[in-house]
Amino acid sequence: MDLQFTPEELAFRDEVRSFLKAELPEQMAHKVRNGLQLSKQDMEQWHAILNQRGWLANHWPEQYGGPGWGAVQKFIFEHECALAGTPRIVPFGLSMLGPVLIKYGSEEQKSYWLPRILNGADWWCQGYSEPGSGSDLASVKTTAVRDGEHYIVNGQKTWTTLGQHANMIFCLVRTNREVKAQQGISFLLVDMNTPGVEVRPIITLDGEHEVNEVFFTDVKVPVANLVGEENKGWTYAKYLLTYERTNIAGVGFSVAGLEKLKLVADRVQCNGKPLSKDPLFAARLAKVEIDLENMKTTNLRVIAAVAGGGVPGAESSMLKIKGTEIRQELLSLLRRAMGPYAAPFIEEAMQAGYDQSPIGDEAAATAAAQYFNYRKLSIFGGSNEIQKNIISKMILGL
Ligand SMILES: Cc1cc2nc3c(=O)[nH]c(=O)nc-3n(C[C@H](O)[C@H](O)[C@H](O)COP(=O)(O)OP(=O)(O)OC[C@H]3O[C@@H](n4cnc5c(N)ncnc54)[C@H](O)[C@@H]3O)c2cc1C
Repeated sequence: MDLQFTPEELAFRDEVRSFLKAELPEQMAHKVRNGLQLSKQDMEQWHAILNQRGWLANHWPEQYGGPGWGAVQKFIFEHECALAGTPRIVPFGLSMLGPVLIKYGSEEQKSYWLPRILNGADWWCQGYSEPGSGSDLASVKTTAVRDGEHYIVNGQKTWTTLGQHANMIFCLVRTNREVKAQQGISFLLVDMNTPGVEVRPIITLDGEHEVNEVFFTDVKVPVANLVGEENKGWTYAKYLLTYERTNIAGVGFSVAGLEKLKLVADRVQCNGKPLSKDPLFAARLAKVEIDLENMKTTNLRVIAAVAGGGVPGAESSMLKIKGTEIRQELLSLLRRAMGPYAAPFIEEAMQAGYDQSPIGDEAAATAAAQYFNYRKLSIFGGSNEIQKNIISKMILGL
């Protein structure tokens, strides 16, 4: 196992860096680095820039528009993007539905929907979770009843991220109630402009409107929008989740977060000296840095195994747990470093240009909101407790 990049991989890294330097708008990177709100337009613009370069669907096969990269190139690209402060690509169409359609969709579905994901014609959201069906996803209750050439859908989805921007939602629906839960689920594509679809906002702890509830009342969905076979949706759902957990360690985000934290801790004064020199704070800082270094090595080890033809097993779950714990600890320390300036929630603080902090940049103002927002990391994509169950089953056989 070789954890060093080859000369070709280093050349690729330089190519990615040059591209980011030339194409990533500074105003966008400034927003990302300081945890400021990204508009729908920002997200669409970055999507279009990557699509133009042919690097948007970097995990799709070349025949559908992927660049033909291997695991190491994907890792380098995502790492460099995080360091440069690119917006996160909205994953629902590109990273979740796309791979499912490529593997299980009909030729008509592939040729219609995949180009629309790439050119941004559709904004997809994910209709998996329901009240009472999160970790226990197989218990979904939203029903789809066949009526001629349509399904009639009734029920409710929840926690639908960015559903307020979406025109399409992929849903897990119950098509058979008589069989074991997993065997009666189908995977359906629903146009959100169909009569009977209603989106209601959920405002989270940080004051943001990021997630929603989506209600379906007698919604007519063409049978052509069924992916794969009726009642086989659980297989497709699980396949999608493996993509949801890809690159979940987010090493690049943590490296960028650590840099920012160190900068702030050097500037803030504590008993007449920089906070970074305070023994208690310095000890926590050192611990998270060591954890991050260890996780980087583990992540590279997994990438090397995948590049050599292996399949990540329990390692994805380990990386999810450790990666999210590190990101949450970094934000907790950042908030601690800001002290009282990070205590109140100030709505205007999320807008670019706000500056009331003693640190002299917008980072202080968003520290509290970001701290609260990133509590979600250990919940979505399969909560960290569920990941521990997976590890115990796969490694310990419990
Ligand atoms: C910000 C955010 C965005 C989201 N976006 C989306 C989205 O776009 N689309 C979508 O479909 N869903 C989305 N989700 C939903 C997310 O996938 C679920 O919240 C998650 O699966 C947990 O389900 P739950 O909220 O129902 O909690 P529950 O499943 O009720 O879990 C509650 C607690 O019990 C623990 N627990 C549950 N079962 C077990 C067990 N067997 N063993 C040990 N501990 C257990 C959990 O770890 C958790 O701590 C989002 C969630 C959040 C917070």
